Amino acid sequence: MARMKLKLKKGDFVKVVSGKDKGKQAKILRTIPDSGKVVLEGLFLVKKIKRPKKAGEKAEIMNVSMPVFASKLMLICSSCGKASRSGYSLTDKEKTRVCRRCGNKI
Ligand SMILES: [Zn+2]
Repeated sequence: MARMKLKLKKGDFVKVVSGKDKGKQAKILRTIPDSGKVVLEGLFLVKKIKRPKKAGEKAEIMNVSMPVFASKLMLICSSCGKASRSGYSLTDKEKTRVCRRCGNKI
């Protein structure tokens, strides 16, 4: 599998554009560039059971966020508040992520 370039980073707010959580918004907790996936806060939760290690302990049920493909997400612009496909502008020899709607830096 080809390594994908992630345009998203930790702390970004994104909108889900496909799947059962379509339309929901969440913050990125973690990115996994090798698989092109990110982990969102409070979305794509699965229940995991933490089994007791000792007799007498109870099993704990935890909600764990599953990584999702970045292609299912759209970045939300902090300036105009709208979901937008981000673009890059090459200014000052640095890659700056900009909003295609309002032109502001994201
Ligand atoms: Zn914008």
